[in-house]
Amino acid sequence: MDGIDILISEVGPRDGLQSIDAIMPLEAKKAWISAEAAAGVREIEVGSFVPAKLLPQLADTREVVAHALTIPGLTVAVLVPNARGAEAALEAGAHKLTLPLSVSETHSLRNLRRTHEQVLEEARAIAAMIAAQPPEKRPHFEGSLSTAFGCTLEGAIPDAQIARLAERLMAAGCDEVGLSDTTGYADPAAVKHLINLVRDTVGEKTLTGIHLHNTRGLGLANALAAIECGLTTLDSSLGGLGGCPFAPGASGNIVTEDLVFMLEAMGLRTGIDIDRLVATREILAAAVPNEPLYGFIPDAGLPLGFNAAARRPVKEVA
Ligand code: ZN
Repeated sequence: MDGIDILISEVGPRDGLQSIDAIMPLEAKKAWISAEAAAGVREIEVGSFVPAKLLPQLADTREVVAHALTIPGLTVAVLVPNARGAEAALEAGAHKLTLPLSVSETHSLRNLRRTHEQVLEEARAIAAMIAAQPPEKRPHFEGSLSTAFGCTLEGAIPDAQIARLAERLMAAGCDEVGLSDTTGYADPAAVKHLINLVRDTVGEKTLTGIHLHNTRGLGLANALAAIECGLTTLDSSLGGLGGCPFAPGASGNIVTEDLVFMLEAMGLRTGIDIDRLVATREILAAAVPNEPLYGFIPDAGLPLGFNAAARRPVKEVA
């Protein structure tokens, strides 16, 4: 990756906003995305192409995508629950499409109202739609293995089932699979175990990212475990906004501000200016004033004399 070690994928405008009742005005969404991009965030999941009656919070995703596409260098990602959503995402011109597949079939039925076979059928249809585009217009297509670390309805999901679904998503035409701790059940050992399992199944290059929550306080520990395994893309949400409305008790993605601090303190480049990132919270505080914002760095501030550049390993500075 150009000039950075770890790609932070901000998911607040999708994952965060879909989990709260308040509807953020379109202008605030645009300002939020612009401000984070200006702070150095290079990828933002800006919305989800779901019917407006299911998620009125994201009903303006098309307009949000159009705005985000005007920001140079920003990868504009969206969630698509099915082929119909992907069609809208293609029309809108999104750079990256993520189709979630709950490895728990019970959760899949509850969340997407589809069996595994039906979701895989959607994946094949989406891949065919993408293939029909001119090469320069083809978005990146990720299949996300959600509830990978356990489900609130089924509990632990067998390794063999996760591996088989990873394999089938790739066979259906995904460019990549991702792991998602939808329920906040993960721990660092489980993160390492699942990354190795999926990589052994589909290959190292087709698993680069992970979506973690901080539901039980292990978000950053899990992120560190993922980095130690060599993953390079981490999802997080400004102010920890969000969670999963279909997984009772699961609330809050990892806080982008704290994640960036940990990485930069370790000498890993994110390309993000922490002070400018923290300032972006003001947009959330003004637009959804009743929502709690989480994070330690915004309250505690950076350590005295903190200089991320000075922390880079010598070999990279030279
Ligand atoms: Zn999430």
